[in-house]
Parts: sequence; structure tokens; C-alpha cells
Amino acid sequence: MNSPADPLATLPLRDDLRGMSPYGAPQLQVEVALNTNENTHPVPADVVDAIGERVRSVAAQLNRYPDRDFTELRRALANYLGHGLTEQNIWAANGSNEILQQILQAFGGPGRSVLSFVPTYSMYPLLALGTGTEFIAGRREPDFSLGAESAARQVAEHAPAVVFLCSPNNPTGTALDLDVVDAVYEAGEAHSTVVVVDEAYAEFSRSGTPSALTLLEGRPRLVVSRTMSKAFALAGARLGYFAAAAPVADAMRLVRLPYHLSSVTQATALAALEHHESLLATVEEIKTQRDRIVAELAALGLTPATSDSNFVFFACGQDAPTLWQGLLDEGVLVRDVGIPGHLRVTAGTEAETTAFLTAVRACLHRE
Ligand SMILES: *Cc1c(COP(=O)(O)O)cnc(C)c1O
Repeated sequence: MNSPADPLATLPLRDDLRGMSPYGAPQLQVEVALNTNENTHPVPADVVDAIGERVRSVAAQLNRYPDRDFTELRRALANYLGHGLTEQNIWAANGSNEILQQILQAFGGPGRSVLSFVPTYSMYPLLALGTGTEFIAGRREPDFSLGAESAARQVAEHAPAVVFLCSPNNPTGTALDLDVVDAVYEAGEAHSTVVVVDEAYAEFSRSGTPSALTLLEGRPRLVVSRTMSKAFALAGARLGYFAAAAPVADAMRLVRLPYHLSSVTQATALAALEHHESLLATVEEIKTQRDRIVAELAALGLTPATSDSNFVFFACGQDAPTLWQGLLDEGVLVRDVGIPGHLRVTAGTEAETTAFLTAVRACLHRE
């Protein structure tokens, strides 16, 4: 009360949480919100109906706890992924953020570290903090790329318990070559490092970009994480999952809260998977808009990064907070990820993309 700057300061917080701020992409009410990489297309009507029916069919049994092992959902996720996976290889949780948290709860923790290569997903250090795992910020090249040799050298140097590889990387947008994943796994052999490839945006990859799912065979500590929050247009449902060797999935049972996946979540995800073709129908259109953003920003003299995702990271040739505010004044919310001179924008519908590009032109002319 006596310190309005930090109202939490009077609480007996854990020492390592003092002065921290929560994850906070602004949730502003704007015409065109392109700041959190959601699929901006609404859920199609046939999927809305299917979800409604499935949820209705479990509603009368909501007096009971859900299937703790969500076996039907794991089977459906395995079928969706293919690659010879079965339900024993699959685990799911409330978003891939919870997936990553459970992995750190099981394999990280006090006295252990997680290595990732920055700039990367801003939640990794926060998940490390919450689980008492030391976060090690590995280095990328000045152009934000990451090569196999450098990555492997850093893994050997730090001997982390866990490595997070984000591919395509958020916020930069580019997918990793599989030889990087392979080299990191090899380098971690000596210390039994668990290697997690976060493929939240895999469905948007340019053709010819293979998934790390193809590397699972014979690698007992490789984990490939996915989500329904992006391509599946189901960010509100909170469903993330991973594929790995069966013992890794079994280990999650040690740390998950009992009944962590509600019956409503399971029903929603099952209905969505049954209609995945309908849900994923917007992916090609989003990729078209993404490629359009890359081409038009380059034509305006800005420098967009190659993107395998549904967003574009670009050097804006000026102060990023100034352009961010200018775009917001035009009704377009993008993301300032805190990298000087750069912004990130989600590829939305054709109309949203047009609004963004129009706003960029207006801001550039105003200078
Ligand atoms: C958006 C995103 C996720 C998804 O998180 P959910 O909890 O599944 O919504 C995971 N990883 C990265 C890199 C992301 O950008």
C-alpha cells in the first residue's frame, strides 16, 4: 500500500519472484489485432456445431472427473500426426505452455538448467523461473540464425538438463534445419539432455521444411511439441500436446495435476480433430498473406525475415516503439518484442493484411 509502484512488494513472495512482471502481450480493443499470432479467421460453422454437440454429450457427466489419461484424445492426436505414432507417444495439456512447464517440472528444477537460443519465445525464461530451473540464454548469429556447430558447442559447454529449440522460431519466424536438432541431441547425449523442439507453427512451414517428428525414432529424449492455438484456430480452447518416446509421456504423470485436462477440453479437441481439414483450410490463405507481407515490406524498403510461420518479423528502419504507436493510431496492433528496430506482425485475413500494409505506408509517409 505504501509502494504504489509495486503493490506486490509487501507480500512474502519467493525471493526469485520479487520485482518480476507477468507475461503480458497487451489485450487492447482494436479493429485489427495482429499481435499474438492467433489464426484470425473465426472457427468455421460446421466445427462450431461439432464442438457444441460433443460438449453437450459430456455435459451431463460433468459431475464426474474426466478421463485422467485422455486415451481417446491421445489416439486422435497420434492419428493426426502420423509418423507411426500411437497414443503411448502422446501427451497433452492446457496449451503447449503447460506442456513445456510439465517438461521442466519433470526434467528441470532446482540445480538444473534449460538452454535456449535468444531471441526466442518469451515464455521460456518465465517457465524456467516458475519451476526453479536456471535459464541459460544461448547465442544466435547476428542475423538471428542458428547453425548446427554453434548450437552443439553451446550445449556441450553448458550441459543443460533441457534444451528448448523453437522451430519456426518465435519471434523471428524461420524454421531450423533438422541437422541443428540432430547436432543438439548428439551434443546432449553425454549428459542425457532432454531436447524439446517447439513446433507451435509447424503447419505454416514452407513446403519442403521437414518436422522434427521425422527424428523421433531412436532418440529417447527428443520431444516435439505442438499446439491447437495457432493453425487450428483454437487458442481459446487451450490444448497443447507433444510426441516423444512412451517413457517421456509416462513421466508427465508424475508432475501433472490430477485430471488436468477437463472433459470439456477433451471433447472440444476431439471435435476439432475430427474436423481438422475444415479447421486447417485457412492455413494456405494465411501463408499467402504472410508471403504478401514479406514481399510488400521488402518493396517498401524494410527488411522482413524469411517466415515459416503465420507471422513476419521485420527490421523497420526506425525506432520500433514509434512505428508501433503509429500503427496503433491507425487501428492496427502489432508486437514490439523488445528487439531494437524490429517489430513482429501476424498474418491475418486478406482485409487485415491490407489494413496493416496501408497503415505501414501511412506511417512511412508521415516521417
Ligand atoms: C504461441 C506459442 C505457443 C503456444 O502456446 P499455447 O499455450 O499452446 O497457446 C507455444 N510456443 C510458441 C513458440 C508460441 O509462439
